[in-house]
Amino acid sequence: MDARLEAIKDTVLMRNPGEAEFHQAVVEVFESLGPVHDRHPEFLEAAILERLCEPERQIIFRVPWTDDSGRVQINRGFRVEFNSALGPYKGGLRFHPSVYLGIVKFLGFEQIFKNALTGMPIGGGKGGSDFDPRGRSDAEVMRFCQSFMTELYRHIGEYTDVPAGEIGVGGREIGYLFGQYKRITNRYESGVLTGKGISWGGSLVRPEATGFGTVIFTQEMLRTRGTSFDGQRVVVSGSGNVAINAVAKAQSLGAAVVACSDSSGYVVDEAGIDVALLREVKEVQRGRLKDYAERRGGVTYVDGGSVWDVDATVALPCATQNELDGAAAARLVRNGLVAVGEGANMPSTRDAVAVFQEAGVLFGPGKAANAGGVATSALEMQQNASRDSWSFEHTEERLTEIMVGIHDRCAATAEEYGEPGNYVLGANIGGFVKVADAMLAQGLI
Ligand code: GLU
Repeated sequence: MDARLEAIKDTVLMRNPGEAEFHQAVVEVFESLGPVHDRHPEFLEAAILERLCEPERQIIFRVPWTDDSGRVQINRGFRVEFNSALGPYKGGLRFHPSVYLGIVKFLGFEQIFKNALTGMPIGGGKGGSDFDPRGRSDAEVMRFCQSFMTELYRHIGEYTDVPAGEIGVGGREIGYLFGQYKRITNRYESGVLTGKGISWGGSLVRPEATGFGTVIFTQEMLRTRGTSFDGQRVVVSGSGNVAINAVAKAQSLGAAVVACSDSSGYVVDEAGIDVALLREVKEVQRGRLKDYAERRGGVTYVDGGSVWDVDATVALPCATQNELDGAAAARLVRNGLVAVGEGANMPSTRDAVAVFQEAGVLFGPGKAANAGGVATSALEMQQNASRDSWSFEHTEERLTEIMVGIHDRCAATAEEYGEPGNYVLGANIGGFVKVADAMLAQGLI
């Protein structure tokens, strides 16, 4: 790392003790930014990096609620409003027992660059709670969401901060959150949340967008090597919203998607994952992959273990952070891996990224490859602002344009900085310069 940046990084790490994931996200970005500061000493003078690493506002609050047996439960809620240089804070809410400030800050920090890369007018933010929705009834989830919003409402708004879904937060949760916001404020403010249902201000393609976008981005990377998804052997990790839609899109482009996973195990389905059944099991019944395996029949279900033991030419990690480590990366590379498109946020460890890059594998980092979700959220905001709703075809066309645009911008930036094909460098520099220029123009705030 550049010596000037190293000193700033050390201070950031020291000021944010115990936040391993945030440290990882910061270090990964700083490693790309040396050459930018050679060209733009004004960014250093204006302390752009120091300011970028300090969220504009961090909100932590108590979320009390009662479970179905009448017992009081207490969770912790978070919203980190990281950077508003380009637009209102924008980013999802994650409900998962592992959520703490370090996770929310890593996600929020990544979101700044991701949102900048989309070219849409959105700043970066993220939030969530250590609430575990698994095994909770609809009524419990509703009471939790209502209590969460009873505090959060005062901090958000269509011009201020626009939350959406993430792990553990889908259409059901967004519905309960929106209902409570509307009740407290007495405003039908559609643009305050994205990922809404289609009959009450949502956008077509938003549910599919992150998974579809990841595959579109990966397809563009493959195209630079004169190939495509057609005939690839694809392994996807996860089986939530992002994973399911990545499977569907990869299949529509002619790939054989042979495996996916959940936190209990993974399934190998050599005939190709049955997306309709997977949707039914995961989204309608809120079941597990084990149930998919039982109903599908003739497939292998492995309890525990890692889905990255399954050979692939294209890997799409769509589960969670740090799910793919250096050893798994090396094994995949030895067995013919050609490309990786990250559908999740920071799913590859730094070791894994190094292995992919040394081996010349096409590697699309999450902040570029999975930006289709938040980009389509921005399209949802546009529709809300104009009280309009677009067709599936039109919206998907916009998504495709945006993903191809992100790909091309990352590729051009990597080339401009002398490292053609390095999408990590391209994404970090491309996102950073846009935000830094806006911060410079807006003065010391
Ligand atoms: N949580 C998604 C992400 O990581 C989407 C955020 C949004 O739609 O605002 O980008």
